[in-house]
Amino acid sequence: MRPSLLVKNALRVALMDDARGELSDADVLIRGRVIVAVGKDLEEPGARVLDARGCVVIPGMVNTHHHLCQTLTRAVPAVQDAKLFDWLVHLYQIWQFLTPEAAGVGAEVGLSELLLTGCTTAADHTYLFPRGRPGELIDRQIDAARKLGIRFHPTRGSMSVGQASGGLPPQSCTQDEDVILEDCERLVKQYHDAGPFSMLRVGLAPCAPFSVSPSLMKAVADQARRWGVRLHTHLAETLDEDDYCLERYKMRPLDFVESVGWLSGNAWFAHMVHLRPDEVARLAKTKTGVAHCPSSNLRLGSGIAPVREYLDAGVPVGLGVDGSASNDSGDMLGEARQCMLVHRVRTGVSSMTARDALWLATRGGAAVLGREDLGRIAPGQAADLAIFDLDKVDYAGALHDPVAALLFCGSSHRTKWTIVNGRVVVEDGRLVNADEKDIARRANEQAKALAEKAPAGRGV
Ligand SMILES: [Zn+2]
Repeated sequence: MRPSLLVKNALRVALMDDARGELSDADVLIRGRVIVAVGKDLEEPGARVLDARGCVVIPGMVNTHHHLCQTLTRAVPAVQDAKLFDWLVHLYQIWQFLTPEAAGVGAEVGLSELLLTGCTTAADHTYLFPRGRPGELIDRQIDAARKLGIRFHPTRGSMSVGQASGGLPPQSCTQDEDVILEDCERLVKQYHDAGPFSMLRVGLAPCAPFSVSPSLMKAVADQARRWGVRLHTHLAETLDEDDYCLERYKMRPLDFVESVGWLSGNAWFAHMVHLRPDEVARLAKTKTGVAHCPSSNLRLGSGIAPVREYLDAGVPVGLGVDGSASNDSGDMLGEARQCMLVHRVRTGVSSMTARDALWLATRGGAAVLGREDLGRIAPGQAADLAIFDLDKVDYAGALHDPVAALLFCGSSHRTKWTIVNGRVVVEDGRLVNADEKDIARRANEQAKALAEKAPAGRGV
């Protein structure tokens, strides 16, 4: 059996319990994959002790929306300044050549960034499976997650309505619906673990109203209910999407998903930027979740989601870094900071505190993914911790409030330790189970190869 882990003498432990409690000079004791005690002067013979003096300990953060494959198309010059639909139409021309190998190394990049910045559970949304070359893209991402040691919630995305049928993607990026449904079943049956402290749960996630059919949305919702897995998609991201839905379905995006049986506590939607007050109330009533992606929404000029209204109404909200081609970073702590800042512009300086943003990154995300066992530091919870060392120049002069300092200050955003399921996977700001330079080298090779395959003028 693994030795216990004892996080000792932390400057501050933010419990993220309902009372938002915080402890000073405190310890956290982990046995196996579970937190067994939190408090002062804890002892455990034979434990490995992590000296956390000068450190802030928070629950491992939960990322609720990502497209790991996109790490290979960051900062593409032709679309650095494009809005969503133009950005997508250009990048489809590169992504259509995605291979399992590229998906695997793309995931290694994205998941490494998340672990290094304090995220311990990552959801992913892979929706582009090149037609006629079905590869095991999600299987290779799962391999990467297992290697790095992160808790993983991959979702099987899909696109079935191409340009020939009035959709946004080219036909080469779409699949037939029977092929999609069969692969959804395969992935759930092969990988989904519904148990407590699960390291891997599969979800189902048709891409967006502008790339799938209502019949596929309904069929996938039926599958999700049958197997007890969660539903995910993009929604209400841009005003172009509003126009598309009104023209094609004669409905607004939220009405469209309601019409196909998707408004429920089992579903969470990425973005949700353009909603009306009555629509916010319907989300709250059904406990439908939101993955808020502030950096992506700013990067693509999509807008600022009404998160203060969501929280006041009781809508479950988590944070998502979104795909690395529209952020273009997977910096989880940075995303929480972005969240704190952007809502101050929209709803006032006091409308999003540092602790509110950290709550969304931890408890909020855990709720959105349906994980009662994550997001808090308490006995019986999963042993997922992010430990940041404040004993450096980044935080000097900010120890009046070490927890808030995590978001107000700092430049590297790297943890000293990241612990997932009771295992140390980042130590002194470095990955334990992989070599960063090796990942970067292989990723750059794959990114170059992918861009070179794109049709002339449509690559980088
Ligand atoms: Zn997305």
